[in-house]
Amino acid sequence: MKEYIERAESKWLHTYNRYQVVFDHGNGVYLYDTDGKKYLDFCSGIAVNALGYGDQELEQELVEALSDQIGKLTHISNYYYNVPAIEAAEKLTKAAGLERVFFTNSGAEAVEGLIKTARKYAYLKDGSTDHEIIAMEHSFHGRTFGALSVTGNPHYREAFEPMIGNIRFARMNDIDSVMELVNDKTCAILLETVQGEGGIHPATEDFLKKLRALCDERDILLMLDEIQCGMGRTGRMFAWQRYGVKPDAMSVAKALGCGVPVGAFLMSEKLASASLVAGDHGTTYGGNPLVCRAVSKVLDIFEKRDIAGHAEKVGGYLADKLDGIAEKHSDIVDRRGIGLMQGLEFTHPVGDIINRCLENGLVLINAGTNIIRFMPPLVITEADVDEMCRILEEAL
Ligand SMILES: *Cc1c(COP(=O)(O)O)cnc(C)c1O
Repeated sequence: MKEYIERAESKWLHTYNRYQVVFDHGNGVYLYDTDGKKYLDFCSGIAVNALGYGDQELEQELVEALSDQIGKLTHISNYYYNVPAIEAAEKLTKAAGLERVFFTNSGAEAVEGLIKTARKYAYLKDGSTDHEIIAMEHSFHGRTFGALSVTGNPHYREAFEPMIGNIRFARMNDIDSVMELVNDKTCAILLETVQGEGGIHPATEDFLKKLRALCDERDILLMLDEIQCGMGRTGRMFAWQRYGVKPDAMSVAKALGCGVPVGAFLMSEKLASASLVAGDHGTTYGGNPLVCRAVSKVLDIFEKRDIAGHAEKVGGYLADKLDGIAEKHSDIVDRRGIGLMQGLEFTHPVGDIINRCLENGLVLINAGTNIIRFMPPLVITEADVDEMCRILEEAL
């Protein structure tokens, strides 16, 4: 692997400090590096590879669908219709209970779509262009300028200022901090239902319900970023479905294609009919037949196998086990999360622990410097959780 890593570092733009491993293939919930070493995967490509890898029965269905589609048609312009995108749209809107969808190439691009939708909606109402969006501190929405502008981490933004204007930051789960910022120019409130990169912070039900009431009262759009916490990870298809609070629009990506690069933003019929129109937005690749065939098949598998229900069950087991570990170690200050999206917060940086786990055949990822994130493929079993805990405890 050393030689591959040297070659990579001599050519790739150095925008990541990478773990010193070159992955070659996957099988079930295991990854293998180019030297043949096996790793239990509790990262799933950051919440992307929800169905695991390779020769598992589940993944095989997806592989077959994609192979078939590659042989037929991978791309056609959005100036034409294609059947996989129609089917994917029908299934995704049904799962979300939101009537309209636009397919994108990434999560960031889906967030861009939300921002444009919010601004257009407000513009159509009063003709002015000075509307504000309220986002949350410690949020993460992506690296493009719009998405970065609503990302509540000054460190990611600073060198790239100026951002897009009129973004205000409130505190997650602090309705007063939102009330302080709301005014007649506020067009949308945007948040992750469960903050991922920011350290696994779920929105409370009370906070979401108060946001919904506030948005209804003042004709503000409630927009939820479900890119990381969506697609079954929290035990529901979308995390907000746990709370009985429905957004006006949401972004999805990561596990949507289970490894094929695809995102989407969805909205209610009401919002769709009062925002973007022909000519307002577009993409070359977004919604092409190849990625939409993946979306369509992924949604079939999720439904047929009740992947979200499985995540709920195994997620509860994972949370209990992590609570047990936290009790034994005084440097663990908190265990947070829902379903198979969990975090352990330490009093110190966790890089060394993650590296030791990697050496011992376990892939984990951090969220911030002090938090270990647990985001396995959703098909993980309780025995896999036990194995993960054994390796983690050894590293601790
Ligand atoms: C990963 C992520 C994004 C950005 O998605 P990309 O596909 O990397 O652009 C946006 N929002 C959340 C919550 C994410 O976790």
